[in-house]
Formats: sequence, structure tokens, C-alpha cells
Amino acid sequence: ETIQVKELAEKMNISPNEVITKLISLGIMAGLNQDIDFDTASIIAAEFDYELVMPLSSSEEIEEKLIAELDYEDSPEDLVLRPPVVTVMGHVDHGKTSLLDAIRETSVTKKEAGGITQHIGASTVNVKNKEIVFLDTPGHEAFTSMRARGAQITDIAILVVAGDDGVMPQTVEALNHAKAADVPIIVAVNKMDKPEVNPDRVKQELTEHGLMPEEWGGDTIFVHVSALKKQGIDELLEMIALVSEMQELKANPNRNAVGTIIEAKLDKSRGPVATVLVQKGTLSIGDAVVSGSSYGRIRAMLDDKGKRVKKVGPSTPVEILGLSEVPNAGERLYMVDDDKKARDIAEKVRIKNRDEHLKATQKVSLDDLFERIQQGEVKDLNLIIKADVKGTTEAIKQSLVKLSTEEVKVNPIHIGVGAITESDIMLASASNAIVIGFNVRPTTSAIEVAKREQVDVRNYRVIYNAIEDIKAAIEGMLDPEY
Ligand code: GDP
Repeated sequence: ETIQVKELAEKMNISPNEVITKLISLGIMAGLNQDIDFDTASIIAAEFDYELVMPLSSSEEIEEKLIAELDYEDSPEDLVLRPPVVTVMGHVDHGKTSLLDAIRETSVTKKEAGGITQHIGASTVNVKNKEIVFLDTPGHEAFTSMRARGAQITDIAILVVAGDDGVMPQTVEALNHAKAADVPIIVAVNKMDKPEVNPDRVKQELTEHGLMPEEWGGDTIFVHVSALKKQGIDELLEMIALVSEMQELKANPNRNAVGTIIEAKLDKSRGPVATVLVQKGTLSIGDAVVSGSSYGRIRAMLDDKGKRVKKVGPSTPVEILGLSEVPNAGERLYMVDDDKKARDIAEKVRIKNRDEHLKATQKVSLDDLFERIQQGEVKDLNLIIKADVKGTTEAIKQSLVKLSTEEVKVNPIHIGVGAITESDIMLASASNAIVIGFNVRPTTSAIEVAKREQVDVRNYRVIYNAIEDIKAAIEGMLDPEY
């Protein structure tokens, strides 16, 4: 955003000469009709005791418009099949990392073997001449924090459950994250080489969480694997290919590229380095791109094998060099016509980010729930319920679901035992949910993240109080909390 010197002076009711003199004192030579940028104008305004307020709605509108322009819908006839993007989730130590390693090793062709795989945050695996993209960061934290930023990049979730250990708290957490994102789940019962495994118990336990195996009449695919002995990996890959075929995942390769940043860092010698998953279009060396307030021209691209590539199509992860600053993981990346446009958009995003806190109220909270129900903005009141003992969770869930009205459905998306964690908050943020705790406290990091993500966290000692609060909020009778 810019403003003319003349216009700025008029707005403050100060002679243009005074404004020009001030500008000179700042080392800026500007004439009456010259445009100065928002930052400079703010400084000048402050000198005269004025505060320059960027019309937020307009900057947001501009960004929305630009994005609609860059991320337009493709017509169905331009779409072609693209590889699926898969995330591996599950309880700690159940074998997520081992499984990813096993998958990568099994699929490495003889020609590639010996070549070092680069860690770029995602890797492409070849299965019978079909590709599958795996996100390297196992676990739902990465997955959900991306979703909280509005980026849904996963098409299929692999839920790893150790056959000897069975379903554990993070297994349930992971499957709820995947369900909340509406991502199909394939269960990999791991460690099948161990004598004490009991895959039927895993099936039984998961059935209780809504994942019914196919052989029991449900529609969830279970595959028995051993990441350690590399058994069952081919079958798992085939199942992924099958599920992805059913989804008919498509994208248009012939358009400006749109992708999502998976990882980014500042490299001492190479500058800002980012891995982007291209989702639509084709990205080529020399293309001008923008991602949040970072922009630039693509100087070089490396694939997951560390090989330099010139251009890549949909569902391809590549490391890119040439950005002006390190972008945020989860941020979208757009290809634009030229550098200037990239810089302009980045600048607008920067201005918008500065005023980001003003948008905080967009997340649902008990305090503004009624109003937002009235305005038709909230139809599902998503809840995450954490309690100290398992017995209470079910009781709480039942009582809260009963509070549903015609206007709003009370919808518990995750219920668990133990402290409120960062992961609960990220799930809440991604799903626009409120977190309710009973006799449990949020962890220190959860408190911080809740603040940042503007998630409403409520702690109760008595179930009755929670029911009263939520009922009152739905009916618009809640006393505001100070
Ligand atoms: P993550 O925390 O889910 O990523 O789990 P890891 O991949 O780090 O595995 C945790 C432990 O389980 C490691 O000691 C692995 O060697 C072991 N492990 C993983 N897969 C298997 C398996 O298929 N069989 C056996 N016996 N051990 C396994």
C-alpha cells in the first residue's frame, strides 16, 4: 500500500511542505505527488502525532482476490491423475520411522541404490510405475499444525499400531486427527515378527474407535507388516495405491504452480531453502514465486534424491532455492507472472500479517458462540475433551452431546485421558474446536500454543459446571469471563 505525500498531508491537515521537510530529515527526497510506502507514511504520521491505520479489510480483500486469481479452480477436463500424498501416524515407538525407512529402501531401484537420499521433508516412492509421496515427518503434530494453517496436503493416513502393544493414547489421538481432516486411514499392524503380537486385539480395539476391518464387514484396510524384517511392505504399498485410485486424485499440470511449504530453513551457504510440495501446475527454474511474505525467483530445484531438476508437476516434493526469506511450513506457495508481482503480493501479506491479531476472534470461543450461531457461522460446536480418568470422559461426552439443538450440534472430535497437550491445541485450532478439561491442566507449551492459536481452553472440576456453561453459551446466556 502506498499514499501520496500530498494526500498524507491533507489527511493530517498539515502543510505538504512540512511533510516533505520531515521526509528529507529521514533521508527521503519526495515530491508532492510522489507515492510513499505505508511504513514510511506511518513514521511521518507518528512524528505529527497521528496514527496511520491501514484499512485492514481492504488489504485482506486484496489478498483474497489475488489468491483467488492465483489458486483458481480448474475445469474438470484439464485434470489428470496425480500421485497420493501419504502421512504416517501412530503412537511413539510403534515403528513410524522404521516403516518409512523400510518403504524407502524397498522401493529404491537398483540404479538408485547407493545414492544418498536427501532429507527434504518428503520422498517419492515408485510402486509398479506408480508414484506415492510420503511426508517424512511422522506423527500427527506436523500434519495438524499444517492443517491449522489451512493447508491440507495429506490424501491418505497410515496408522501404525504395534501388534504387541495395541492401541495406545496417541493411536487414538492420531486417528481422530485423521478423521477430523476427513483423510482415509489404512492401518498397518507393525512388529508382526514378534512372537507376542495379537493383531486381532488391535482390530478389536480400533473397532471401538470406529475403524472396522473389511473382513468384519467394515471398510478399513488392515495390513500386517514388520518394518524391521521388511515384510508386508509391498502389500501396504499396493493398498495405498488402491485407496488412492478410489479417491481419483487429480490436478491440472498445465497452469501456474500452487504448492505448500513442507519444511524451510536458513542454510548458511545457500540462503533460505524450502521444500515445497507442488500440488497443481508445473514449477520451473526461473519462475517467480511468493509464499507469505517471502518471494523470489527459483534459482535451483533439487528432488528427494538430491538430483537437480528443471521442472516438476503435481504431487512432487522439491527443495527450492531463491526465496527472499524463510517461509513458514504450511504456507502456500504461488507461482506468479514476474518478480515484481511476487514482491507486491509478499508486501501486502506482510502488512496483513502485522495486523493479524485483529483477526483473532475468528476462532470460535464460548463467549461469542451464541452470536456466531445466530449468524449461521457455527453449525457444529467441535469439542476436545480431556479428563483425569477414563470413566468420566464417556459420561461427559454423553451429557454434552445431549445439549445439541436445532441450530448447533455438539460434536466431540477427540476425547482423551491426561493433561491438555500442544497436540490437543493444534487439533482444536485446525478443527475450530473448544478444549474442555476436567481436573487436568494444560502443559506449559499447550498454554503458549493456545494463546498463539487463539484456542479457547476451559478447565472444570465439576461436570455440572461445564454442562451449564456450554448450555448457556449455546443459548446466549453465558456471563462473559473476565
Ligand atoms: P516411532 O517412534 O513410531 O517412529 O518408532 P521407531 O520406528 O523409532 O521404532 C521404535 C522401536 O521399535 C525401534 O527400536 C525399532 O527398532 C522397533 N521396531 C520398529 N518396527 C519394528 C518391527 O517391525 N519389529 C520389531 N521387532 N521391532 C520394530
